[in-house]
Amino acid sequence: MSPFNPTPNADPLWIELGARRYPIAFGAWNAASASSALALVVTNEVVAPLYAARLQEVLKRQHRLVDVLVLPDGEVHKSWPSVSLILDRLLELGADRHAVVYALGGGVVGDLAGFAAAIYMRGLAFVQVPTTLLAQVDSSVGGKTGFNHARGKNLIGAFHQPQAVWIDLQTLATLPDREYRAGLAEMVKYGPIADPAFFDWLEREADALNARDPAILSVAVRRSCEIKAAVVAADEHEGGLRAVLNLGHTFGHALEAGLGYGELLHGEAVAMGMVMAAQASVDALGCDPALLRRLQALLARLGLSTVAPRLGADRFIALMMGDKKNQGGAIRYVLLEGMGRPVLAKLPHALALQAIAAHSVA
Ligand code: NAD
Ligand code: MG
Repeated sequence: MSPFNPTPNADPLWIELGARRYPIAFGAWNAASASSALALVVTNEVVAPLYAARLQEVLKRQHRLVDVLVLPDGEVHKSWPSVSLILDRLLELGADRHAVVYALGGGVVGDLAGFAAAIYMRGLAFVQVPTTLLAQVDSSVGGKTGFNHARGKNLIGAFHQPQAVWIDLQTLATLPDREYRAGLAEMVKYGPIADPAFFDWLEREADALNARDPAILSVAVRRSCEIKAAVVAADEHEGGLRAVLNLGHTFGHALEAGLGYGELLHGEAVAMGMVMAAQASVDALGCDPALLRRLQALLARLGLSTVAPRLGADRFIALMMGDKKNQGGAIRYVLLEGMGRPVLAKLPHALALQAIAAHSVA
C-alpha cells in the first residue's frame, strides 16, 4: 500500500488479482473496455429514473442490445426472488456466456447482480456501477456477491470479481443524507484499520465531507478504494487479513439484527460498533484512549450517532455468536492495538459487555 498522498487523480486504480485484475475507473462512465453483443443493466426503481438512461446511452456504443431490468428497492428485496428475476431476464433475452451484466445502484443491486452473474451459465462478466457512497468505497470492490436468507444477512453468496468498477461521484448528488452519512462511516473505518495519515486527513476535511465537496470526495473515495483493493489483493477469499475490513461489524451486525433490519442503516450500526470495538481495544489491549476519543469525535462531526440503543446483554452476545465470521463457536473481533494496527482477537464476554454498556443508552 503506497503512503497516503492526498492528490486527486483520475487514473484508474487496479485491483491486483493476477489474471483477474481489474480497474476501478473514476469519472464519467465510459464503456471503452467492454464489448459484446448483449448488456443487461440491473438497477432498481429509485435509481432507474435517475441514471439508467444515461448508462444505457454509454453502453449502446459498445453493445448491440442494452436491456434494463428494474428491481424493487430495498434490503428486503436482496433475496432469492430478485436473483431469479435477473436469471429469468437473461434467459428471455437468450443471453449466452458473452453477455455482460451491469449493476447500477447501491450495494443491494451490486450484490444481487454480481451473484446472478456468478451463477448464470457458470459465470458472466459483470461491471459494478455503484451509485451510493457505501457501494463506491466498499461493496462494489472485492468480489463478494450474494443475498439474504430469512435466517440471516448475506448467508448465500459467491466470490465473483467484477470486470471493472465505474465510479462517477456525480451520482452522489441525489443520495439522501442518511445514506450518505452511512457511507462516510465505512470510509472512516479505513483510517483505524490501515492508514493513520488518512484518518488525520479525514479529521481535517470533515466540514468539506459534510458539504459533499467534490474534490475532497474524490480523494476520499479513491483512498478508500486503494485500501480495500490492497486488502482484497492480499486475501481475496478472507483467509485472515480481509476480516480487518469488518472493524465495528461484529457489534454493528448485532445492533442491526437486534433492532430489526431497517431500523439502523448498516453504516450507522458500523459507526456505533466501531466505537464499541475501540473501547474494547482500550480495555483489553491497552490501546491509547485518545484513539477512542478521536474516533467518537470524527463520527459525531460527520453526523453519525456513536451511542447505540440498548439491546440487553444476553441478547447482544447471542446475536454476536450468530455472526458468520465466527470460528469454532468463538466470537472473532477486529480490535485495534493503535491507529492503523488492527488485530483479530477473542474477547472475554465481560469486556465486550463493558464496551457495549459504555456506549449504549436506554
Ligand atoms: P442500497 O443499495 O439499499 O442503497 C441505499 C438506498 O439508496 C436505496 O434506497 C437505493 O435505491 C438508493 N440509491 C442508490 N443510489 C442512489 C442515488 N445515486 N441517488 C439516490 N438514491 C440512491 O444500500 P447500500 O448502502 O448502497 O448497500 C448496502 C448493501 O451492501 C447491504 O446489502 C450490504 O450487505 C451490502 N454490502 C456488500 C459488501 C460486499 O463486499 N459485497 C460490502 C458492504 C456492504
Ligand atoms: Mg460494512
